[in-house]
Amino acid sequence: MAADSKSSQLDDIQKLLLERIAKNDTSGFTQLLTQLKDVNFVDDTGMSLLAHASFKGNKEAVQILLDMGADVHLNQHGADYTPLHFAALSGSTDVCRQLLDAGINPSSINSVSRTASQMAAFVGNHACVETINNYITRSGLEYYTQAHGQQTEPLIPPALLSAFHTFVIEINLHPVRIALNAQSLGLLRILSNLRKTLALMCEKEMQKTHDMNELLAFKFHYQGWIVAELIRCEEQFKAQHKEKTAGGEPEVNKNDFIELFVKRVLKENKQGQLDYVEYTLRECAREFPVRECTIFRQIATQFGGKDAPPALVILRNAINGMRGFVDETSYCSTCGQEKPDKKCSKCKAVQYCDRECQRLHWFMHKKSCARLLAASLAGATTQVQSKGPIDTSELQEQLSKLSA
Ligand SMILES: [Zn+2]
Ligand SMILES: [Zn+2]
Repeated sequence: MAADSKSSQLDDIQKLLLERIAKNDTSGFTQLLTQLKDVNFVDDTGMSLLAHASFKGNKEAVQILLDMGADVHLNQHGADYTPLHFAALSGSTDVCRQLLDAGINPSSINSVSRTASQMAAFVGNHACVETINNYITRSGLEYYTQAHGQQTEPLIPPALLSAFHTFVIEINLHPVRIALNAQSLGLLRILSNLRKTLALMCEKEMQKTHDMNELLAFKFHYQGWIVAELIRCEEQFKAQHKEKTAGGEPEVNKNDFIELFVKRVLKENKQGQLDYVEYTLRECAREFPVRECTIFRQIATQFGGKDAPPALVILRNAINGMRGFVDETSYCSTCGQEKPDKKCSKCKAVQYCDRECQRLHWFMHKKSCARLLAASLAGATTQVQSKGPIDTSELQEQLSKLSA
């Protein structure tokens, strides 16, 4: 009854808006919004317009609604789903992040006592699980944009708060992604303070008497470690450059040492393993300041195990949890980003976020591109992808099958 009276209260514009968002007709939706007085209303199931846009994973519509003052807490849904529950079901990490930025409470539970993150896990939207679990609020970081105690300047300039926040909540832990983020977010000029801040954040997290989150503590430690590696790389780069220019004022381009770092990370040995990453990450884990905690013991055990997976996989799983074997998704060969848009146009066997990622990987990929192309012509693409580089005898066997 109540539902009937509620739906009959919806006017034509409200009804039409709900229809358009259901069809993901973003431009039609946006045009109509100008005729709406208040975006905060619910349909006959108690779902707000924001909840609908979230369920569609429509980040453009969600942003417009938030800008127009949509209330993230408006929720009369019968099963107590918040917009974040709907976003988690949609699989859109962008929408999850927009709602979290707008202050939605990630711990709200629905009528079956599930948080949004748990709902995401339930339907296999792992990236959403990670986005929600890795989230910390921007205001929680404001502390570091103020000078404390003996400091004359804050560790993080206030103007870089948003950039710093974006850097910290990143879920992709690949060292290349961390380096490229630091570059694109304009954080390269404060690397030393960035490292200090992350170390402080780790320390602070471990000192909490309740609600301590050792996964986050380890993540901050890890991010700080990669930043320290970047600093080391920058120093080496400057030293080399100084030798070359012999005395003259070195013209160091900020991008060049990032490139050096990326190549160091991506350099494979003959077995296709990333030696530098393996060494650095194991060192990082060993230096975690707190030994008496589950995550440290878990990582140490796995490192010591027979046929241990790569260190990056071990750390990623320790921080973000195992993804199980539902993983049909592909990753960028350069920065580990999930579901990248582009493929190598020649072999189509490796994937990249964009041209820049492809360019950065070419020094390694050029050695295997032709081989991968031959394999794909032999109809063996999927096998090659799942097994990594193939040896020539295997390739010959496939080729002989093709000509037989
Ligand atoms: Zn990439
Ligand atoms: Zn290729």
